[in-house]
Amino acid sequence: MFKRGYISIVFDDGYEAVYRNAIPILRRHHLPAVIALPLNGDKLAKTEKRAVRPWSEWLSLVPEGFEIASHSVNHHNLTKLSLPDLNFELTESAKKLNAVTLVYPGGAINDTVISLASQTYQAGRTIHYGFETVPPREPMRLRSYNFSRRNFSVIKANLLALWVWLTNSWLIETYHLIDEHDQTTMHNVKTSDFNRHMSFLARLPVQVKTIKDIINLSKA
Ligand SMILES: [Zn+2]
Repeated sequence: MFKRGYISIVFDDGYEAVYRNAIPILRRHHLPAVIALPLNGDKLAKTEKRAVRPWSEWLSLVPEGFEIASHSVNHHNLTKLSLPDLNFELTESAKKLNAVTLVYPGGAINDTVISLASQTYQAGRTIHYGFETVPPREPMRLRSYNFSRRNFSVIKANLLALWVWLTNSWLIETYHLIDEHDQTTMHNVKTSDFNRHMSFLARLPVQVKTIKDIINLSKA
């Protein structure tokens, strides 16, 4: 069937549980995803009290079509940093990860962050809710839909994907944690529900692509 509309699947923070639970599902359905990583995963692991997979170990997914995006170095609120610190957070992570897109830690942005980030990255994902267009109007302020335990249901996620097809738009789905039994964080989506949504996406005539690939395609 004729494909229309785009969906990007993004995982913030690089949790070990995502590697264990979500990656096998994506592989099975041949769906690529974006993993947004802080270089200093240990620091985030301490704050969040949950295992973060080191960035170097995520890089092995790149040949399979996954994108590694920058999520800064220390996962600080970028709007609260001095210029040299902000510069370090933005450039050091891009260099190490070979990243061309950015996910703002905690979604915190202001004009300074945006303008400095645009010198290093082709696109930046915010936590502002909304659908995108291809090409996006403001690539450094990409909107997204953040799925959590509170707002995720398979039916709702599938309907949003159907809307993408109907309107030929672009939806960036953001996830943090995929775990069947974790009730300790609001940021969790159940593995079985995630699997059902991914099966739906794999059968829907939309293009599931990474942010980088969609940005490149809209430049062509
Ligand atoms: Zn984060």
